[in-house]
Order: sequence, then structure tokens, then C-alpha cells
Amino acid sequence: MKAAQLVGLDSAEMVWYDSAPALLAQGYRQAATRQAPVLIHRDLHQPVTQLQQAAAEAGFALGIASGYRDFSRQLSIMQQKSLGERALLDRFGICVPLQTLTPTEFLAVYLMWSALPGASRHHWGCDIDVFDWGALAPAARLQLTQAEVEGIFAPFYTWLECYLQRDADWRRPYARALGSQAPDWLNAASGVRLSSQIAAGIGPEPWHLSYAPLAFRYECETHAEALCALWDNPDLPLQAQVRPLISYLYRDYVAAYYIG
Ligand SMILES: [Zn+2]
Repeated sequence: MKAAQLVGLDSAEMVWYDSAPALLAQGYRQAATRQAPVLIHRDLHQPVTQLQQAAAEAGFALGIASGYRDFSRQLSIMQQKSLGERALLDRFGICVPLQTLTPTEFLAVYLMWSALPGASRHHWGCDIDVFDWGALAPAARLQLTQAEVEGIFAPFYTWLECYLQRDADWRRPYARALGSQAPDWLNAASGVRLSSQIAAGIGPEPWHLSYAPLAFRYECETHAEALCALWDNPDLPLQAQVRPLISYLYRDYVAAYYIG
């Protein structure tokens, strides 16, 4: 994969994947109309089809909430959160008022639930977020929250966990719980005022699947230097905070979640 693809600046090798026909064949007419095609890596087409078939055999209508997400999309999420246009949540899922945070504290809160632009696995095209259309009420909006994981989607994610024990090609890099400590770089950079609200690492995302045969390769090809080069750009939000912390951010939010 080219350097630009590894950080989400190039969508070569991505193809549209439309699972609506399969959902329709399963009898999920409404889900078929609501499931939009998603961009995924071209080598993911067959594995995703097989995964959906396995789910169907178990009685689930596997939906794909997102696939490929490029750098500009990741950047716009960070910009919206830094401007207060999207909610910023602490480790307990409670909204944090922006005005209470220093820029470095914002970064630490932000990174628990969103990726640093260029550091999300979604731009490799081999990672997808999945859920069960069959459990979502016709008018309900998908949120992918812990409440849904433990509530309406609990049977689906329980099945998925069992299925993944038989199919080692699919992994869940973000399934583990947050740690209990604030990140060490936050303490060094700006004190510990909000340390009880901020944990090191990424919040649990049991819906996030990574296709290991592709992901192993891209993990090996991605290095902290690529992020350094990407963030050497004063137009990016919080550039002054991110640049000196890149090696810590790469360690805690990228390499710590490698599955290879
Ligand atoms: Zn995801």
C-alpha cells in the first residue's frame, strides 16, 4: 500500500460493497432500503460476503455502519468536536463542556472515542463496523453505543464473539475496556485536573472488525514517522499540541491496538 493510502489520503483499491440484495433475500426489506453501499478494500468483498452469510445462518441480518473513512472525514470529525458541534464524551460517556478543557486535555478526551485524523484503521479499508439490522426498530437511528451493545444488539455481539473464535481472519482491535489511569503524557503536559474523567487508550468498540490478512500488512507498513509528516501542517487542529506528543499518541492509540 502506498504511503498516502496508509494515512487515508488515497482511496485507491477501494470498491463499493452493496449488501442490500443479500438483506432482501433474507427477508429484511426495510433494512435493504436503509443499508447504503459502503466503500471497502477490494480484497474484503468476499470475506464480508462470507461473514454476512454466517450471520444469516445464525439468524442475524449483519449491517455495515461504516467501512472506508478517509483522512478528510476523520479530520472533519475532529474539527466538529473541537468547535463543540459534536458532543465530546468523557470516559463514562458524559458530555464534557469544551470551555473547561485546555487544548491538551481536549486531545486526551477526544482520543478516547475518536481517532486522530490519519490514525484510524478505517482508512485501510479492511476495517468495518457491524451491527444487526434485525434488532433495530424500523424508525430507530443506529447509535453504536454501549447501551445498544448490552441491550438490543447483545445477542448479535454474543454470537459474533463465538464466531470469531472459529474464524481467526476477523479480529476486534478495540474490544477491550479503557484503562483506569489517565495517560502519562497528559500528566506530563498539563497536570491532572481531569484525570478521573480521562483514561489512556481507546474506548471499547466491540462492533469494530478488522480483517487480519490485510490489516497485518498495513500495520507493518505504518510507522510513527508517517504521522509526524502528516501532522507537520499548521492548518490541522491542535497541531501545536499533537506534534510534540506524536510518539506517545502512536504508542497509545495506534500501535497498542495492532492485532498482528
Ligand atoms: Zn470502527
